Amino acid sequence: MDKLTSIECDPECGFMVRSHDRKEVMDTARSHVKMKHGMDVSDNDLKKKMKAM
Ligand SMILES: [Zn+2]
Repeated sequence: MDKLTSIECDPECGFMVRSHDRKEVMDTARSHVKMKHGMDVSDNDLKKKMKAM
């Protein structure tokens, strides 16, 4: 099984997604940023924020 991966938004926002599925983590984080912050993020930006646990 893949490692548990997580992406956290900034602390004021408090959003966090955690899954064994890296693609799911990225997709969920991307749509969060799009919906809540009105921004588009690249795969690279998401990967930088991604942490393995
Ligand atoms: Zn956020």
